[in-house]
Amino acid sequence: MKIASVIVDVPSRQTDRPFDYIIPEQWEDILKPGMRVTVPFGPRRLQGFVVGIKSHSEVERLKPIEAVLDVTPVLNEELLELGKYLTETTLCFAISAYQAMLPAAMKAKYEKEIHLIREEYRPLLPQEIQALFAGRSAIAWKEVEQAKLWRAVQKAIQQGYLEVVYQIKEKAGKKVVKHIQLAMPPQQIRQAIEAMPARAVKQKQVLTFLLSKNEAVPMPELVEQTSASYASVKSLVEKGLIVEKEIEVYRDPYEHRTFAKTKPLPLTVEQEKALSAIVKRVRANEHRVFLLYGVTGSGKTEVYMQAMEEVLRQGKEAIVLVPEISLTPQMVERFKGRFGSQVAVLHSGLSVGEKYDEWRKIHRKEVRLVVGARSAIFAPFENLGMIIIDEEHEASYKQEENPRYHARDVAIYRARLHGCPVVLGSATPSLETFARAKKGVYELLTLPKRISDNGMPDVHIVDMREELRSGNRSMFSRMLFEKLKERLHKGEQSVLFLNRRGYSTFVMCRDCGHVIRCPHCDISLTYHRAGQQLKCHYCGHEEPIMYRCPSCGSEHIRFFGTGTQKVEEELTKLLPEARVIRMDVDTTSRKGAHEQLLSKFGEGKADILLGTQMIAKGLDFPNVTLVGVLAADTMLHLPDFRASEKTFQLLTQVSGRAGRHELPGEVVIQSYTPEHYSIALAAKHDYDAFYQREMMLRKMYGYPPFYYLTLITVSHQEITKAAAVTEKIAAYLRAQLSKEAIILGPVASPIARLHDRYRYQCMIKYKREANMTSALKTIIDRYQHDAAQGDLSITIDTNPYMMM
Ligand code: ADP
Ligand code: ZN
Ligand code: ZN
Repeated sequence: MKIASVIVDVPSRQTDRPFDYIIPEQWEDILKPGMRVTVPFGPRRLQGFVVGIKSHSEVERLKPIEAVLDVTPVLNEELLELGKYLTETTLCFAISAYQAMLPAAMKAKYEKEIHLIREEYRPLLPQEIQALFAGRSAIAWKEVEQAKLWRAVQKAIQQGYLEVVYQIKEKAGKKVVKHIQLAMPPQQIRQAIEAMPARAVKQKQVLTFLLSKNEAVPMPELVEQTSASYASVKSLVEKGLIVEKEIEVYRDPYEHRTFAKTKPLPLTVEQEKALSAIVKRVRANEHRVFLLYGVTGSGKTEVYMQAMEEVLRQGKEAIVLVPEISLTPQMVERFKGRFGSQVAVLHSGLSVGEKYDEWRKIHRKEVRLVVGARSAIFAPFENLGMIIIDEEHEASYKQEENPRYHARDVAIYRARLHGCPVVLGSATPSLETFARAKKGVYELLTLPKRISDNGMPDVHIVDMREELRSGNRSMFSRMLFEKLKERLHKGEQSVLFLNRRGYSTFVMCRDCGHVIRCPHCDISLTYHRAGQQLKCHYCGHEEPIMYRCPSCGSEHIRFFGTGTQKVEEELTKLLPEARVIRMDVDTTSRKGAHEQLLSKFGEGKADILLGTQMIAKGLDFPNVTLVGVLAADTMLHLPDFRASEKTFQLLTQVSGRAGRHELPGEVVIQSYTPEHYSIALAAKHDYDAFYQREMMLRKMYGYPPFYYLTLITVSHQEITKAAAVTEKIAAYLRAQLSKEAIILGPVASPIARLHDRYRYQCMIKYKREANMTSALKTIIDRYQHDAAQGDLSITIDTNPYMMM
């Protein structure tokens, strides 16, 4: 008798272990680890993943598996192992880890079908399967079950004749096209044509056309080929001669796009050096982490692509991660243009079904390259030759729900296993990464110059306090306004950037730029309207709001922020002749809107592109010669120890949008704290100086990369309960951890109340703590019962990027 160990689909501590089930005889040879099954669990039936198969179990009176959902494993052995690594490092449940690796479509309701891949394969199938498929190219999985032909079908799948397809039931995820098909055998149709009156020309044409096709024809094609009206088709349906049906079509998000084939460019000396270092490891099957540190426009992407070519030559596969936000049509075009149909593209703009289709291309080994956002790191490749993470410093590589993994860690884990290099690329590497490169843990490759002769754009910083003093209350400085006008006259384009995060929360003096900060934590205090208090969300320090600036005595002290809509209004007042495209969450929520707005701008149909974060990256428009940053300070004063780093990165990225081609570029940064090092050094394109400066502060205040962080957030409807639990957790940790660990809190979270729940947090800073993982697991165990009641929620983030 064989036993399967199954992880069931209940994310809770008690069920977070494999349960044993008997494998019924008919599935004995078929069932493999990585397949999904349905099993009885108490009174319920649950889905689960088979994680192991054995011949003996400690448990008595086992129940049998009820159904096998897959014919081939959806998770290979490596991914099953990776799941364990994720549960250990992020403290998530195994089921959450496995589900994160699969496309959402596989979690949705679906019907499983078996498809004949090509008509030519039909005669190669065993008799009994041919009989099952008689006259059809797809059958429902249920039919295979009824005929008990699992084994034969599984073999045919392995041989590549058949495939499993999940037809998603959800309307949203499904692309259906109306098809028309004859409803009677050809002989009867021919008779019907003869019996029709002479004037029914169109109807006869339709039937004749369908006879010539001998299969269901998509409605649009039918209409095009016969120029029949919908009315005549409908009339044939009413006569019962033809039937309409909806058929799901293969979804290719780029089907209407042709990508001009591009060839590898002759490399510069620096590019060549970087490429050969990477290629050497690819050829040698050697794991290595590279940091490709190159200014914006220095040709990193070209290096990635040529390294990918080498991976293909070695018969291997590669994953390229890019931040969601820079998966612009332009970026996709570059990879599709070089590698054509060998690339699958995965990003959140795709429908559930489209993502599933892209995943399937990988699973079936139809592609060997994938370009995608964070979750593409789980691409089920089995022979990885390289993993690239572009813009490695981006916070979007960290998942902010379970499993709270960072794609960089997963990449390094997988690459080590496959013996292949990881390439981290950035113009502004995260401090963690740069520190490792300096220590020689990662190998540093540098591209110090832009490819274009123009070099880096000139950056002007405008002191907005001066503007105010000279009577300009507008959100546009005189310099930015003049330069915008100039571009309008010359017919060149401008990009205006407004950072909306951090809206109205920090308090700043408009006369001297002074921002109120916590005396203990070096982060800005957050303004709370209720109670008129300023609070530190790390340590709990509080002080009453002030009406005079403690630094200069001015009364122009207030909380801060402005929105894109307001900017647009002011822009139309000041420059009524300018054509403005606004890009923010409001104007881009519709699917495809993002691309449409960008291509409109690219075609020169607007003079100014105004937007939030989403326009900061990846854009490459030759006619853009001016970039304006309206309020460089907004992000600087978030209650987050990475605020300066993020500001520096963002300003550098945004500046990189100007003058990427023949026309030289200029950047205007407006700020109330122009002397702040993140702003001053970003303007000078001086990452190294920024790095030195910021590292000093991190060391002084005990933040990464000098300390590890863990953030525990507790929430409950009752404020006292949330506070009390966090207090107990903090006390427990103080007892368990060494004296070196610093435990901050409990303190109300920056977002102190969310969905009517009060939130408290506790932050742990530590270097080496042997007890850390076990202490955290104990906390989860201890409060599991309360959490299961739905009242209390505890999230533990072992590598937090969101401090809110
Ligand atoms: P990055 O990824 O570092 O921002 P890109 O790869 O986008 O830089 O390169 C910037 C521009 O320079 C692109 O238009 C690219 O096609 C071009 N480019 C890159 N490498 C070369 C090269 N070796 N010769 C000529 N042009 C190049
Ligand atoms: Zn503080
Ligand atoms: Zn002041």
